[in-house]
Amino acid sequence: MKDVKVDVLIIGAGPSGCVAAAYLNKHGVNVKVIEKSVFPRFVIGESLLPRCMDHFEEVDLLDCLIAQNFEVKSGARFIKGDTICEFDFSEKYTQGYDWTWQAPRADFDYALTEELKRKGVDIAFKQEVISVEFNKNGSSQTTVKTENDETFEVHAKFIIDSSGYGRVLPRLLNLDKPSSIPEHSSIFSHVKELERPAGTEGTFITFDVLDTDTWFWVIPFSNGNTSIGFVGKTDFINSFEGTPEERLSEMLKESSYYYERFKDVDFLFEPKIIQNYSKSVTQLYGKGYALTGNSAEFLDPVFSSGVTFATESGLKAAKLITKELQNESVDWEKEYAEYMKKGVSVFASYVKEWYTGNLQTIFFEGTDNPDIKKQICAVLAGYVWDETNPFVKNHDRLIKTLANVIQLNKRVSKE
Ligand code: FAD
Repeated sequence: MKDVKVDVLIIGAGPSGCVAAAYLNKHGVNVKVIEKSVFPRFVIGESLLPRCMDHFEEVDLLDCLIAQNFEVKSGARFIKGDTICEFDFSEKYTQGYDWTWQAPRADFDYALTEELKRKGVDIAFKQEVISVEFNKNGSSQTTVKTENDETFEVHAKFIIDSSGYGRVLPRLLNLDKPSSIPEHSSIFSHVKELERPAGTEGTFITFDVLDTDTWFWVIPFSNGNTSIGFVGKTDFINSFEGTPEERLSEMLKESSYYYERFKDVDFLFEPKIIQNYSKSVTQLYGKGYALTGNSAEFLDPVFSSGVTFATESGLKAAKLITKELQNESVDWEKEYAEYMKKGVSVFASYVKEWYTGNLQTIFFEGTDNPDIKKQICAVLAGYVWDETNPFVKNHDRLIKTLANVIQLNKRVSKE
C-alpha cells in the first residue's frame, strides 16, 4: 500500500476518536482514522452521562445516535439491601442535558463511524498501528499493518491516540503509570430477557451494592437485551471457580434483589473478564501527540465516566490541534493537561470515596437534603468542570466531611 500524508492521524474509532475526527473534519482539517477491528465490534462501557451529549451535539453526531432509538437514561438507581437511592438528572445543580442513553456499544460506535464515513472522513478498518517514530518538530511516521500483513506509513503533523485499552502510545513511549484507584476487576455479559419486568423496574439502570467493594450492574437496552456485570476486588472476582459462565452464574446468587430475574437467562456471549482495569499515564500529551479517552486514563465503571471522559478529551485535543494548525499558540499543559486532570480528579475523588464507603454512607443514609442531592447529581451527570458546584470545587474534602457528619448524627441519635 502507498504511504499517506495527513494533518492528523487518529488511532482508534471508539467515541473518543470519532468525536475528535468529527470536529477536525468539520473544521476542514485533513484527518485519517486507523482502526484495528471491524465494526460493529464489542466493547464494554454502555451507560453514558448527560455531559457527553454536549460533545456529540457540538460535532454534529447527535442526530445519527437519536435515530438508533437507544434506551433513554434519565438518572440512575443505587440499591443496598432494602435502601434505594435514585438520582434524576432533571434535578441536578448544573445546567445541561438531563438525559442520555444506555446502549450496546457495538451499535453505538458503529452508528458513529457510519456517520463519519457519510461525512467523508477517511476511516480504515482492519488496520493496526504497530510503531510510531517522531521527528524533532513533532511530525511523525506511523507504521500501519493491514489485514494482509502488508505495511505502509502515515506521515502526520499530529497524532491523537484514542486507542482505548490498545494504549498504543503509552506502550510505545513507556508512559504507563499505576493508577491511584484501588485495584478492582470485573466480569460481565449480555443476556436476553424473555420476561423483563414492566415499566421502569425493567428499564432502570441499577447498581446493586453488595458490600463496600462489590457491586452488580444491570443495564437494560432498548433491543430487549440487558448488560449485567460484577465489579469487585480482584481476589473476590478470582475466588469463583469454573468457566466464565459458571463464575458469573454463581456470582448472581450474591444479588438478592436480582437473582430471581436473571437466574435462568442465557448469556449471549461467554462472560468477559477484565482484571485490574484502572489505567493511568505519566503525561497526557507530548510534542506532536495527545492521548485521549482510555488510552490516557481509566478510573472505574462505578459512575459511568469512561465514555464522557473519552469524548471530552477527544474534543478538547481536536480543538487545540485545530488552533495550532491555524498558527495560534497553544499551552498544552494548561489548556489540555490541567483541564482534563481537573475533571478526572473530581471523578477520582468520588471513586475513591465510593470504595472507602463514605459516598455509600451519603447515598444510603443521608441524601435527603435536596440541595446536596442536586449538587451530587450534577457530578454524576458528568458536569465536573462546574466549579460553582461545591461538590465539584471541594470534591476532595466535602464527601468525607458530610459522611462524618452523617455518621456522627447517627451515633448521637442512638444515644
Ligand atoms: P475504545 O472505545 O476502547 O476504542 C478504542 C479503539 O481503538 C478500539 O476500537 C480498538 O480496536 C482501537 N485500537 C486499539 N489498538 C489499536 C491499534 N494498535 N491500531 C488501531 N486501532 C486500535 N464507560 C462508560 O462511560 N460507561 C460504562 O458503563 C462503563 N462501563 C465499564 C465497565 C468496565 C468493566 C470497564 C473496564 C470499563 C467501562 N467503561 C465504561 C469505560 C469504557 O469502556 C471506556 O472508557 C470507553 O470505551 C473509552 O472509549 P475510547 O474511545 O477511549 O476507547
